[in-house]
Amino acid sequence: MNERKISFFDTKIEFLKGVGPQKAELLNKELSIFTFGDLIEYYPFRHEDRTQFHNICDITENMTAVQIKGRLRSWEKVGEGHKMRLIGVFTDGTGYLELTWFQGINWIEKNLRLQGDYVVYGKPTLFGNKWQMTHPEMETLNAENDKGGYFQAVYPLTEKLRKRYIDSKQISKWMKNVLEVSLGNIKETLPLVLTSKFRLISKQEAIYHIHLPINQNSLKQAQRRLKFEELFYNQLRLIKQKLIRKVDYAGQIFDKTQLLSIFYNEHLPFDLTNAQKKVIREVFNDMKSGKQMNRLLQGDVGSGKTIVAFISMLLAIDNDAQACLMAPTEILSDQHFNGLKKYADLMGVKIAELTGSVGKKARRAIDEGLLDGSIKIIVGTHALLEDHVQFKNLGLCVIDEQHRFGVAQRAKLWDKNQNFRPHILVMTATPIPRTLAMTLYGDLDISIIDELPKGRKPIQTIHKYDSDRLRVFEFMRNEILKGRQIYVVYPLIEENETLNLKNLMDGYESIARAFPEYALSIIHGKMGWKEKDYEMQRFKNKETQILVATTVIEVGVDVPNASVMLIENANRFGLSQLHQLRGRVGRGAEQSYCILMTDYQLSKDTRIRIDTMVRTNNGFEISEVDLSLRGPGDMAGTQQSGMLDLKVADLAKDGEILKYARESALEILENDPELSSTENTPIKQHIDSLKSSETNWSRIS
Ligand code: ADP
Ligand code: MG
Repeated sequence: MNERKISFFDTKIEFLKGVGPQKAELLNKELSIFTFGDLIEYYPFRHEDRTQFHNICDITENMTAVQIKGRLRSWEKVGEGHKMRLIGVFTDGTGYLELTWFQGINWIEKNLRLQGDYVVYGKPTLFGNKWQMTHPEMETLNAENDKGGYFQAVYPLTEKLRKRYIDSKQISKWMKNVLEVSLGNIKETLPLVLTSKFRLISKQEAIYHIHLPINQNSLKQAQRRLKFEELFYNQLRLIKQKLIRKVDYAGQIFDKTQLLSIFYNEHLPFDLTNAQKKVIREVFNDMKSGKQMNRLLQGDVGSGKTIVAFISMLLAIDNDAQACLMAPTEILSDQHFNGLKKYADLMGVKIAELTGSVGKKARRAIDEGLLDGSIKIIVGTHALLEDHVQFKNLGLCVIDEQHRFGVAQRAKLWDKNQNFRPHILVMTATPIPRTLAMTLYGDLDISIIDELPKGRKPIQTIHKYDSDRLRVFEFMRNEILKGRQIYVVYPLIEENETLNLKNLMDGYESIARAFPEYALSIIHGKMGWKEKDYEMQRFKNKETQILVATTVIEVGVDVPNASVMLIENANRFGLSQLHQLRGRVGRGAEQSYCILMTDYQLSKDTRIRIDTMVRTNNGFEISEVDLSLRGPGDMAGTQQSGMLDLKVADLAKDGEILKYARESALEILENDPELSSTENTPIKQHIDSLKSSETNWSRIS
């Protein structure tokens, strides 16, 4: 058993001054706060600056929130039924402010006093020539808040807690109580070399000021310190995993290159780009190193990852091993299979595909072929993970779009070879920002294809308003006359299949009316894969000129003759989704276009998305903008990753801190892999305490 010292921080939360058993139960249930330690680590997600009072006459439009001391002069109800609102007139002697409530009007009327003095807090907006504040926070003026002078930490809370009057203020009071009795017991978790090098305040100070900052500067310092610590330990763990793997897991040594030479000399369909060559070199070095490879390959759509995968597979096959490629969907699996089969057939290498829709009999044949080693390459979906899939000697796993697969699934693939863990190459066509790559894939080595094959003309991206539609149609007609084909894409409106279909059908009809002389294909989510495939084939064979589709064509289509991607309601798409769609054209030698259609009214974020698309074709640049707009939690494909559960750091903003944290972690582990020096004692102690609290957790839940 884990011998864990019961510390002060393990004291049950019900014993904190002011909490008691009932509220403790609420805190347990709603916020998973069980102990003093849990409360201390329950960090606020923002802070309200209540240090000063503003005068109404000094309010300007770029103030995000103001605090005003004054008197509620009058109020009246305006409007009827659900449009009814309560408007109060508030003054501080320097001007007037209208307070507006749309909800809880009865409660407000009962609880606020006319001619009473209050502190109001909220965002001011200018309406005509009047300052307004909607649903302001109001507090009766009293001796304490009259002074101003504090920052209010704002904590994530639940509706249930609010109903029981547990708000951020209440949490702050408890926090004050808990810190009063325990602050002195909080141990420093960073070594002196780091705190002094980066001028970080102590852990005790940081904890105090993140909850109860006295001014802007103390808050900033506290945040910086805690962010650094969080990212440092995050990186330390990832880098440690990587180092352990390098030491512990031997890899098969692949150094024979017979088939490979034949492929290079006789069958290579084009000159590899320098980026492709560089990545292949990196992969080869890993695979002959005697250590297990764990490499991430990032490259934009069309950058030529398939041939890199094939060449890597060929190296495995040359050394009596087999290779697999796992894709997240059947469509993608099909596409990979077809792409690889072309090359495999040239080389007389046996390749097969295994997905959920492969029948029993065929599956048995595949199982046998894999076990006796006659099948060299297997492409498939999750179906590959099933227990009946056993290999003679699995040497390389290529995983496409890894972020959709969890770590557990990766581990399942490893276990398919009992002697050696297979080499792993993770491929993704969704370039991710540097900070995300460092945290999500910090335990992998990273290769990047940042160059498109020669002769490709960069796709031109154009933004058009719905009112330009006739001109856009004319442009499309000209392209078709030149022999090209066109995609028209409609957004998927989540949770409303009927509306989706209606939008798509309306669009289809208007295009059919505008282009009576041409044949159209249509693909949508309600169609079975056979129908989809049939339509897709017609388009591929140039029997139809325009393909109208919902976003199902995002993946799995390769039609080099298609030169225009028209995206309807482009404002409804995320940035990386737009970029993925655009990647469907520009695959041939012709100039290609991406047309983004929107109406006139665009939100600020939409405008940034559209402008970014128009400005650049670089997936990495686009991913950085996407991150800054959406934050790391909502980025394509990162949702399922526990890696991004950061408490204080924000990967969209803290790239710089992350960089230093990673460098520091690397340096420390390189010089002292066991963390056994006196200098690094705080690190070792902190890791041990993290470990024991993790086991503690699993006991609770
Ligand atoms: P990705 O999988 O990275 O999106 P693919 O491997 O499907 O890209 O390659 C896209 C297209 O470019 C394919 O038609 C492929 O044959 C072609 N291609 C790949 N590498 C090169 C190259 N070095 N020179 C010319 N064409 C290439
Ligand atoms: Mg591909």
